[in-house]
Amino acid sequence: MQSHGVSADIIIVGCGPTGATLSLLLAQCGITSLVLEREKSIYPLPRAVHFDDQIMRIFQGLNIADALARVVRYNPGMRFVDPQGELLLDWPRPEGIGENGWHTSYRFHQPDLENILRNKIQSTANIQLKSGVEVDAIEQSEQQASVRCTNGEEYRAKYVVGCDGANSIVRSTIGNDIQDFGFNERWLVIDALLKANKPELGDYTIQHCGRDRPSTYVRCPGDRRRWEISLKPEDDTRTVTSDSSIWNFIGEWVNAEDASIERSAVYEFKSQVAKTWRRNRLFIAGDAAHLTPPFMGQGMCAGIRDAANLAWKLAICCRQQQLPDNTRAALLDSYQTERIPNVTEYIDTAIKLGALINSCGTEVALKRAFTRDDGTVQLKSMVPTLGPGVGLGSNACVGSWCIQPQLQNGTLLDDMARYKPILIIEPRLLREHQASANAETHCLVITTQAEPDLQSVLTHHGVDALLIRPDRYILGSANSAVELAELLNRASAMHLA
Ligand SMILES: Cc1cc2nc3c(=O)[nH]c(=O)nc-3n(C[C@H](O)[C@H](O)[C@H](O)COP(=O)(O)OP(=O)(O)OC[C@H]3O[C@@H](n4cnc5c(N)ncnc54)[C@H](O)[C@@H]3O)c2cc1C
Repeated sequence: MQSHGVSADIIIVGCGPTGATLSLLLAQCGITSLVLEREKSIYPLPRAVHFDDQIMRIFQGLNIADALARVVRYNPGMRFVDPQGELLLDWPRPEGIGENGWHTSYRFHQPDLENILRNKIQSTANIQLKSGVEVDAIEQSEQQASVRCTNGEEYRAKYVVGCDGANSIVRSTIGNDIQDFGFNERWLVIDALLKANKPELGDYTIQHCGRDRPSTYVRCPGDRRRWEISLKPEDDTRTVTSDSSIWNFIGEWVNAEDASIERSAVYEFKSQVAKTWRRNRLFIAGDAAHLTPPFMGQGMCAGIRDAANLAWKLAICCRQQQLPDNTRAALLDSYQTERIPNVTEYIDTAIKLGALINSCGTEVALKRAFTRDDGTVQLKSMVPTLGPGVGLGSNACVGSWCIQPQLQNGTLLDDMARYKPILIIEPRLLREHQASANAETHCLVITTQAEPDLQSVLTHHGVDALLIRPDRYILGSANSAVELAELLNRASAMHLA
């Protein structure tokens, strides 16, 4: 492939939510990216309608949380009802701000988010976005990776990341070996715009379980409301999306006088994870790497987590040209080993939820599914840890998510460090460490003396110091000056902190 010269550090194929987020995180690390997007404008119709507080926290790091806060809606929770409309199980979400500094669950309109991400990209110097450009071939050598586009343009970079959705060409190039978890169902998705207020529809998500056609109602922001209806094998796609059929499906809740149909589409909900996310200089992320049934509202969220996991690792490899090959390989391979178990846990749970919504005798099944060891039924957001990767040390907290307390001045923890590592430490341990010979660290250091509310984070994990990664998972911990020196030395050897 004849390329036009090195165009950027990273080429990103696809500017959906995953590619857009990745480019913005890379820019925060000072890394340039060229984003190649097939479509001329963003996909205008709704797909994802939910994201959680981990994702809002990543958006906070991109400096777009304020813009988003104006268009999202706090999600009060989910109710499961039987075919007669009787409540089977209530999953209320806390009304207040949660331990990540945001509500635990948000409703949104995907094109709103994509517009905000695109606007941010336009004003970011390190990102070049080329829309209306389709990549049709990818190659790599020891030194570089290159792509060719259908318009004949060719570009090369240090790495190529395929954020190019379910039919990813980058995944095909890496190797299309996929683990299929077996959930494959066709659902009809109907997005309606209310013409007048209909408070009786409610603000909760409603799972209509055990019906002939199990279905989900979603309260989206503004006038938007969504219904997802399970289809039967014999249902014909064209017939079920006809006007009369749509009103028939949702007639018990709204009719043509109450609402107009924004769009309806049949989706095949799949449950798949690609087995290989990296081949040398090529990577995949987002829907290119995994697909989940949407019952947990976690498909896009998983792609945003991929971007947050990968960007700082790519940045280290771009900046540190002298990194030993084995260190570079360990860092880049950890993307897949850390992310696959994490995303698989969400997919597993979404499949179980889908099975419960489909099943009869649902009350017993639901309670059994959500009953804790002490016998109480509790529905909480899941916060899976990462799989094995670059975590340092054997403490149980390594690879788990670190919450985001508010600071003394009312700002949130990440506002101090954006997408950089943070060391939270007791002042005594910091003094002991500073007294030792090699006390240099490259992360933001915050003591529990300066920020007393951070003590609860250390106490929760039973440690005196926590090293937090840019993606806000825990890299390592220490309880003594010796342990801390070892932790920081190891982190520094890999340029992690
Ligand atoms: C009905 C439904 C409901 C959903 N609900 C939720 C939810 O509530 N919460 C949630 O988190 N997720 C949800 N999802 C999933 C979510 O929409 C996707 O996971 C998310 O859009 C994936 O983002 P992505 O950037 O990885 O891929 P995409 O959004 O698919 O973007 C890929 C981009 O790559 C571009 N592209 C593809 N090939 C090429 C090429 N060769 N060259 C250049 N560009 C290319 C495409 O044009 C596209 O813009 C839902 C999905 C559906 C269908």
